[in-house]
Amino acid sequence: MKEQRRECINPTIGKQIYIEIFDAGINRRLATLSREHEAHIRACPYCGPLVPAWKIKAGGRLADAERMLAAAKAGRAEVLHRREGDLDMYFKRNTPASSAGLMVKTKGGDEIISIDETSIENFEHPRVSNPSECEE
Ligand SMILES: [Zn+2]
Repeated sequence: MKEQRRECINPTIGKQIYIEIFDAGINRRLATLSREHEAHIRACPYCGPLVPAWKIKAGGRLADAERMLAAAKAGRAEVLHRREGDLDMYFKRNTPASSAGLMVKTKGGDEIISIDETSIENFEHPRVSNPSECEE
């Protein structure tokens, strides 16, 4: 039986993405992925499923995210929650007066699919990835 292996469709770009995400994680900054990288993540059967996991591990924020989810379950008001389709989104401000905070998305209850340092605006009005990007 032939082993079904998913392979990266462009290992050069795949490696760049991996390096960028880990470097960002080590230096506690947001990963900046170019359009080419983002397009690769969408198209590549190997990198696509891996990138969310890389981001979570590299970001070093998993413990923060788990604390947030526990606080949300305990009904703590500082953790905001909204639901979009099958995603549950949580947001906690860094400080009560700050618009910046941590956003955690989960699927199916407990599976964390992304952890992002972002702003309350992005939590309340997420940019929907839409081929016909309409700017205001
Ligand atoms: Zn790839």
